[in-house]
Amino acid sequence: MYMRPAASAQGVCVGRDVAPEDILYYMKAMLLMSSEEGDRTSHTKGRTRFILARLGEEAFVARYKEFLARVQAEENLAFTLPVEPKRGIAVASDANVQAASHDAAVLTHPRIGAQKQAGLYYVSYHPVGGTIPREVFLELLHYLSNSEGTEIRLTGEEGLYIVNLTAEEAKTVAAMTEDGARTRFEASVSCIGSTVCQIGFQDSQGLLATCIRRLREEGLSHEYLPKIHISGCPSSCGTHQVGHIGFHGAVKLVDKKPVPGFTMFVGGSEEHGRERFGKQLGVMAATDIPEFFVALAKLLQDAKLPYEAWIGDHQEELEALAGKFI
Ligand code: SF4
Repeated sequence: MYMRPAASAQGVCVGRDVAPEDILYYMKAMLLMSSEEGDRTSHTKGRTRFILARLGEEAFVARYKEFLARVQAEENLAFTLPVEPKRGIAVASDANVQAASHDAAVLTHPRIGAQKQAGLYYVSYHPVGGTIPREVFLELLHYLSNSEGTEIRLTGEEGLYIVNLTAEEAKTVAAMTEDGARTRFEASVSCIGSTVCQIGFQDSQGLLATCIRRLREEGLSHEYLPKIHISGCPSSCGTHQVGHIGFHGAVKLVDKKPVPGFTMFVGGSEEHGRERFGKQLGVMAATDIPEFFVALAKLLQDAKLPYEAWIGDHQEELEALAGKFI
């Protein structure tokens, strides 16, 4: 469990290997800490990240542990998680039995995978920007409501898995969700942005949709582009700091007039043990960003390398390319 400090900075670890059934103790402890240590005179500064900025990491963790010990001593918040799939198909214990127990034909679909339970499958689905079209969502819910034991599980990056499906159901669900992302780039992370969020000032969802549309129009192979992260403002709901390429909403002056723009970051990482924030390069006009990705996709296509393999030897080339649009 990590908490984020006041300014952009990496969080601090306040608990490791927390048993899932104990998670409510940790949440209640943070609630108490926020209530008793937070600045109650200001909604903004009352957030726990400001407590971390005030106390420093060591004192923050120590104080949090006092609250945790109090909650653990005074309350009973443990609960039991269901562990068995609700569908009563036997779990295969041997890999060969497992392979033989699945329909090879259905597994040729790129978004269908085999579960460890013989005869059961999952379908992965990443709605663009994490926003499921209403009609797809309703059709999916209606279909699954008639298939007892099926579940929808959310990922941490705006995707979802539909699990506990038979082979026939998996094929049907895959067909229902064909509107989703086709590549890693199309599975990029975007916050909801200014069309919905009252704090935000740029349309992050619109930027992602425009980039995807532009790349599809161009007919370029964009499977080499990385997953990017976009936030509509400097708050990091789109986790722009940890993307290989990230953007947060900004304003750019063009001919001395303000136009919608995004500040660009490169080189972030969320990989466990290698976490780092990206380097800020500058602000691009929102209308130029799709053209930047068209140019980058061409470079990667010529190199026939995914971005992650290419960037190691081409950092300067990337920054020079970005510089043409900043
Ligand atoms: S990053 Fe900004 S615009 Fe996006 S959801 Fe968060 S507050 Fe709103």
